[in-house]
Amino acid sequence: MQVIQSTKLANVCYEIRGPVLEEAMRLEAAGHRILKLNTGNPAAFGFECPPEILEDILRNVGSAHGYGDAKGLLAARRAVMMHYQTLGVETDVEHVFMGNGVSELITMAMQGLLDDGDEVLVPAPDYPLWTASVSLAGGTAVHYRCDEESDWMPDLADIERKITDRTKALVVINPNNPTGAVYSDEMLRSLTDIARRHNLLVCSDEIYDKILYDGATHTPTAAFAPDLLTLTFNGMSKAYRVAGYRSGWLAISGPKAHAQSYIEGLNILANMRLCANMPAQHGVVAALTGRQTIQDLVLPGGRLLEQRDAAYDLLTQIPGVTCVKPKGALYLFPRLDPKVFKIKDDRQMILDLLRQERIMCVQGTGFNWPEPDHFRIVTLPAAEDLKEAVTRIGHFLDGYSQP
Ligand code: PLP
Repeated sequence: MQVIQSTKLANVCYEIRGPVLEEAMRLEAAGHRILKLNTGNPAAFGFECPPEILEDILRNVGSAHGYGDAKGLLAARRAVMMHYQTLGVETDVEHVFMGNGVSELITMAMQGLLDDGDEVLVPAPDYPLWTASVSLAGGTAVHYRCDEESDWMPDLADIERKITDRTKALVVINPNNPTGAVYSDEMLRSLTDIARRHNLLVCSDEIYDKILYDGATHTPTAAFAPDLLTLTFNGMSKAYRVAGYRSGWLAISGPKAHAQSYIEGLNILANMRLCANMPAQHGVVAALTGRQTIQDLVLPGGRLLEQRDAAYDLLTQIPGVTCVKPKGALYLFPRLDPKVFKIKDDRQMILDLLRQERIMCVQGTGFNWPEPDHFRIVTLPAAEDLKEAVTRIGHFLDGYSQP
């Protein structure tokens, strides 16, 4: 019998770990050193887990080997609840779900929401797990454009234009991956106004909420939507640099009385996966209530800020390359001027870059950006490594065009 893939996967793709990574691994197996600028994995670039988080995990690991509550450890959920309450978002322990990273919670949230053909408004460019999760759940991701000319702010008119009677939810990624945009309170008010007028569930992915540069500030979308059902996603992978511990949370706020059946569905999905990684949940209280060590990395003199600046400065000196300076997150999303570079297939360009310079980036279309004129690089490597990488990218781009 031939075993073939389910048709449910037909529109599901995740290029960050796609065919380019397979080629990179093939090259590595052949003995080449590849600088991987494809994933936002702080540990791979020497970032450590804050000691107080590690201590709480280690202290509890001996007794954390059993299944736990499907929603999550009560102390962790309580810490999440209190965290949001201090930020003006009303939630409670019954409406906080802990997950194996935000990734699991995003897929659960979409599985529980969508019937075939339902639509979800997702930004373009997006973190592609959102589009993939909508598709896997049978829905259609309808991409609204973020406008590079306006520092990658969401195009509100485009959102309005794309709403249909099948639209169920509006996804906001703030700070944004891949653009690094951080939305103003005014922008968040406008986005929630649209959701209010069209009766949409708000899904706000805020995993980079503490990775902010140049005095940028972050407010949870839910703070502007006490009257709207809002799902806020966040976790330990980025601000606490422990992506491998797979720990995230989903906090539901707004009028839950009208969403009892949806929340019941989330409970079923949470029960089916039994529970999230238990040892890691013991680190959540320390993470949310202690000193926020990420500040040391993003304020002046901090490693993440220095790296962003080093990469940005060199990248924007390459003829034909422009880039909106990111105010948050861990990425640059530069534009390749189509008048200078003739690129029809940006995945091919990224493969060519990999083969020629041994550097792995991700093509813009991998983030559901419609034109082959962007790519993303991660700003996690040490400044010296980033400088070398960007210099080599400049060397590669010099005269690059596709037949
Ligand atoms: N959301 C965004 C915007 C991300 O960039 C990422 C990871 O890069 C995730 C979610 C997934 O995070 P986690 O490690 O918590 O699954």
